[in-house]
Amino acid sequence: MAQHFLLSAASRTLSLRAIYKAGEQAAYETFCKMRWSETEGEAICPRCGCVETYSITTRRKFKCKACHHQFSVTSGTIFASRKMDFVDLLAAICIIVNASKGVSMVQLSRDLDCQYKTAFILAHKLREAMAAEVHTGEVLAGHVEIDGAYFGGHVRPENRKGGSEGPPPQGQPDWQAPRRRRSSRASGPHPSLRRQDGERRRCHRRRERGPHGHPLG
Ligand SMILES: [Zn+2]
Repeated sequence: MAQHFLLSAASRTLSLRAIYKAGEQAAYETFCKMRWSETEGEAICPRCGCVETYSITTRRKFKCKACHHQFSVTSGTIFASRKMDFVDLLAAICIIVNASKGVSMVQLSRDLDCQYKTAFILAHKLREAMAAEVHTGEVLAGHVEIDGAYFGGHVRPENRKGGSEGPPPQGQPDWQAPRRRRSSRASGPHPSLRRQDGERRRCHRRRERGPHGHPLG
């Protein structure tokens, strides 16, 4: 029986092991080749399009010979002002694209040893970049396989279990409105309303006091 493509070595084109084994410099060169594919990684000035540049190797920057504009491989991209190493950025891409069922950002932050917020923002930037590709008009060629995915759509109705009275939100049929449980009213207000309740109680106490502030009775 023929082997499934996904079980073959040819399907393993991007591995975390290879990325970290190659190291930071190789990851940087990969970024250069990805950005300036037409010149095989040789920098092109983003301002004037000049291909003649000085390389400031210590800071990984380039200076255009024509307009003296300084730029880096990430200038003007989603990775601009990055603080993470190139090898970690590449690893993040690898982890996200290889996780066929998706990966949680807490897990990504553990894998990359970065903050949760860093992982979250990074993943959002990658999604933005992928979404932007859709509008370039680029057409895939050859044998193309795609999986379906569904994002967005249904907006969950507001949680109104807290006892706030009022009609259901407009445009929503009554049967879709969240049901109010009798027990929630019997056991007191929702925790989110406790502070308001406290204020109300204080008002009651004030009303019970006499004209000179002394409690009645
Ligand atoms: Zn230039």
